[in-house]
Amino acid sequence: MTTVDDHAQTATIRSLIPDWPADFAQRYRDLGLWEGKTFSTRLDEWADLYGESTAVVDGDRRFTYRDLATRATRLAHGLRNIGVGRGDAVLLQLPNSAEFVIGWFALQRLGAVPVHTQPGHRHLEVSYLAGATRAVAYITTDEFARFDHRALASQVADEVESMTSVIIAGDLGDHAADDRFHTFDSLYVNDDRGLGDDRGLGDDRGLNDDGGLNDGGLGDPADPSDIALLLLSGGTTGMPKLIGRTHDDYAYNSRVAGDRSRLDADSVYLAILPIAFNYTWNCPGILSTFRVGGTVVLAPNQDPAVCFELIEREKVTMTAINPQLAPMWLDEREFTENDLSSLKIIEIGSARLADYEARRIIDEFDATLQQILGMSEGLFCATHLDDDPELLATTQGVPVSEYDEIRVIDAEGVVVPNGEIGELTVRGPYTLRGYFDAPEQTAKAITADGFYCTGDLVRRLDSGHLIVSGRIKDQINRGGEKIAATEVEGALLEHPDIRALAILGEPDETLGERSVAFVVIDDGAPELTRRDLQTFTESVGLSAYKAPDVVRIIDEMPLTPLGKMDKNALRAHLG
Ligand code: AMP
Repeated sequence: MTTVDDHAQTATIRSLIPDWPADFAQRYRDLGLWEGKTFSTRLDEWADLYGESTAVVDGDRRFTYRDLATRATRLAHGLRNIGVGRGDAVLLQLPNSAEFVIGWFALQRLGAVPVHTQPGHRHLEVSYLAGATRAVAYITTDEFARFDHRALASQVADEVESMTSVIIAGDLGDHAADDRFHTFDSLYVNDDRGLGDDRGLGDDRGLNDDGGLNDGGLGDPADPSDIALLLLSGGTTGMPKLIGRTHDDYAYNSRVAGDRSRLDADSVYLAILPIAFNYTWNCPGILSTFRVGGTVVLAPNQDPAVCFELIEREKVTMTAINPQLAPMWLDEREFTENDLSSLKIIEIGSARLADYEARRIIDEFDATLQQILGMSEGLFCATHLDDDPELLATTQGVPVSEYDEIRVIDAEGVVVPNGEIGELTVRGPYTLRGYFDAPEQTAKAITADGFYCTGDLVRRLDSGHLIVSGRIKDQINRGGEKIAATEVEGALLEHPDIRALAILGEPDETLGERSVAFVVIDDGAPELTRRDLQTFTESVGLSAYKAPDVVRIIDEMPLTPLGKMDKNALRAHLG
């Protein structure tokens, strides 16, 4: 726990991500790519520039930019009162809701670091994230998708020593008497001027008398090169890796992604995919929309009928979906009576969109298809809105920054000519130089000269467009949800009847890819079904989407000459 006066981020949490080399950092600043502003400062600027425009629509609730800034300040005071300060990690696990946005900016006010946790994450993932980031607080909901997040939060707070507070956006239920628990609303300190008169927030804590400050006198304890947020990588090994993004780099990402989609003050962005995804939050997504004074509409779920109604009601101009939703959108399009004429851009990415599906989207919607290839580690590519239809249908876009340095390399690390398949590697002003507190993983993923090896196989056209043709990382992309094979293998090997097990991806019409478990069971043990493995996955506290979709029982695990599991041999058995 730190206080607001403790200018500690540089010395503590910040030191857990590698820096860009000084000459690169200087260049990015000199070029004006890194603008030297924190997100708290930006929120104040937006409140001044766009004050009464609607920033966020969540159901019947509408928040102006001024509202957002004020609420972030009020909540920040409440969070500070319970001990959250600069450099403290705080788990943020909320569905698409205004509370995510307000909570995120309240943490920015304090120089604290939101950890983008998915609503589907369960005990194994959440306790790992809390421990790895030494999180001091956990902001979550009461119940979501028939799961009680309060019980999970209580368990995690019992186990993780650093975690002293749980904040529930909703009802405390059985935990009302637990003094670690607070409701989100109870932490709003009353008004953005006379803050804290009755709560001991005197001038000694930095409150100014002028009261006119958007930040309510909190000051801005953060530095633009501090970590603004921690994202999760889909990863390939063990638990998800953490990615620390700085204010400077993330805001630049936001700007160039928004520019590629030509966002402006008239833009209305519908957030359908999970809000904590880098894709939804910033590519271009929510932060890019705020930057230009547009409006963000939060979809309560991914049902195309619900989304189409919102498009009509709010005159949505842009949205982002994944390939799994694309056929559902095409179906709904046939029957809908909603007016979709406001919609200008349908962005699709996070997994490979089949070319034929892309052509159908182009043909059947009046909006422009924008394909993207993005990653939480940084690099973001998108097609240009005026690309010809063939490029729109068959490529995943061009890097959004001219300072993204792309190298497509072969297995020996040699750059391959345009048109040939190789691994996509990248270095640039918003691509990480290393994972959070993970030097070994960093050494594997980042080359000596600073290129991040994505594990994605691509072809680059002379125009700069990239076409994703496969992957060399041991990961399954299940409709955009990334599954690290080794994480699930590790968890399922704990099953008493499983002797050996391998998880691989197999093409699937709906999901793009489904996960297949090849299982060797112990002699005499009963055959295991998909349901058995799902129940087991749940019981060990892994997210439901990580449970195998298909189980194939095999007599023995094929091994390489070195005695390692031979996934290539298993691949021959896939559909
Ligand atoms: P994440 O960090 O979870 O967003 O995952 C990033 C990864 O998603 C990339 O490295 C790719 O493997 C995959 N990905 C994202 N967009 C696409 C796309 N359009 N086509 C194929 N794979 C994609």
